[in-house]
Amino acid sequence: MVGRITQMRQKITGAMLLGSAAVTSTTWPIAAKIFPEKLEIDDNISYWATQTPDYVAGEPLRKSITADLAIIGGGFTGVSTAYHFSRRYPEKRVVLLEAKALANGASGRNGGMMLNWINGVETDDPEMLRRVYEATSGGIDLIEEIIRRHNLHVDYRRDGTVTVYTSAERAEKKHAEIEWLNSIGIPGEFYDRQTLTAKLNMQGVYGAWFDPGTGQLNGAQLIRSLRPILVEQGVEIYEHTPVLKIREGSTITLVTPEAEVQAEAIVLATNGYTGKLGYFREAIFPLHSHVFATEPLTPEQREALGWREMAGYSDDLDRISYSTMTRDGHVIFGGGSNQSYSYLFKNRTAYPGTPDSAFAKMQETLREYFPNSANLKIAYRWTGTLAITLRRNCSMGVRGEHRNVFYALGYSGHGVTLANLAGQVLTDIYSGDDQQWRNQPFYQAKFSPIPPEPFRWMGYQAFTRLTGRSPRI
Ligand SMILES: Cc1cc2nc3c(=O)[nH]c(=O)nc-3n(C[C@H](O)[C@H](O)[C@H](O)COP(=O)(O)OP(=O)(O)OC[C@H]3O[C@@H](n4cnc5c(N)ncnc54)[C@H](O)[C@@H]3O)c2cc1C
Repeated sequence: MVGRITQMRQKITGAMLLGSAAVTSTTWPIAAKIFPEKLEIDDNISYWATQTPDYVAGEPLRKSITADLAIIGGGFTGVSTAYHFSRRYPEKRVVLLEAKALANGASGRNGGMMLNWINGVETDDPEMLRRVYEATSGGIDLIEEIIRRHNLHVDYRRDGTVTVYTSAERAEKKHAEIEWLNSIGIPGEFYDRQTLTAKLNMQGVYGAWFDPGTGQLNGAQLIRSLRPILVEQGVEIYEHTPVLKIREGSTITLVTPEAEVQAEAIVLATNGYTGKLGYFREAIFPLHSHVFATEPLTPEQREALGWREMAGYSDDLDRISYSTMTRDGHVIFGGGSNQSYSYLFKNRTAYPGTPDSAFAKMQETLREYFPNSANLKIAYRWTGTLAITLRRNCSMGVRGEHRNVFYALGYSGHGVTLANLAGQVLTDIYSGDDQQWRNQPFYQAKFSPIPPEPFRWMGYQAFTRLTGRSPRI
């Protein structure tokens, strides 16, 4: 649900990229030879990861094994699939292979916003809107249910988030839209400037869309505290085990540094890293997004900042800025400027060094919204890799000649909810009992092609430098 201008811009950009994709699609094999790529995975140094101090990654796979289902990747997608699948099929052998440590990827490094809705879905169809809302709010309920069921030590809050509007016109338009959403049974509230200020005193905003039931989640804690539960459910977890190669067949071979897995079916749960396995290279590109966390604020600092209620906010700009507040007072902030996102030549999946100027710019953006944030001390700074698709849409489904390669990826900035839902969706697709998902926009969704290198990098540079904008995640 973006403004008309943004939609027009997206159409023009989309058309440009689609045109160049058509011209260059035949060059994929050549590009892969000239610009060889490799999987790079750096350490997770996020605030979220520091809240799992006792976590030690497990042993790698050392001898070859067989599996009914082998899951590649230990983020929300992989772990939620392992969780739901092993409950549904306790008799099947489930193996999870993670290149480094569980929650080392985006799931343990994000902004923490646990949101409704799906990126890339532009519709006025009440049925579709209700369906998407029910799926995503149900996805958040499911996360909470799992935390409670297993009494997990996971910091989360569900006291709602807002999207703030930086123009009076967009705020008023949203106001009318929210009333319409309410009329079709979708909850939400419009906050005018005064109401918002009492809860969240942000400068330069004209109104906000409050979405109750959404919130903030520490993803590293969720995933890592689920490890013993998965093991209890019979899942074999191998960390420090990158899959180097996949050979498809009715039985699939996964090659890892020390051993192989022969699996009847696999799950690609590798989101931004998936292209390195030779899948979805034309559909997704890894985008690096930078985030920082402040020292915990004292009650006086919180009051001075003007953040009195709610888990977080995001704004309505292309260079979307998003922020959440942990219960113990750390402000988590990401985005807000062109520098806070980057695409690196040859689809690199690790950001080299620390982007100091990006962090400086990001603090400036936070100051524009909250002038009193100027004196806050930054305690953590990190970068993460997420998968972006041309239309920002995600997809969950199955592919391959033998229909045994399952996947879920491309969530943009909405993966906290969606990638946790993915495990249930993929388990249902595997079982054939997936009627409830067939009308969802992510079910076996097609992606628009993005050209290979060097056109991909050139396209990103042209787009961001000429327009001064970043892709809205
Ligand atoms: C900085 C940042 C901020 C974000 N903010 C938000 C937010 O506030 N709200 C929101 O909803 N979403 C947000 N997102 C997006 C969200 O975090 C992701 O969509 C989601 O975590 C994806 O989960 P995943 O399990 O599919 O992928 P990941 O969490 O990336 O997990 C993939 C895993 O696969 C492993 N892997 C990769 N290749 C291999 C291989 N060959 N062999 C074995 N293992 C492999 C990786 O090490 C990794 O652990 C953000 C993302 C980033 C990076």
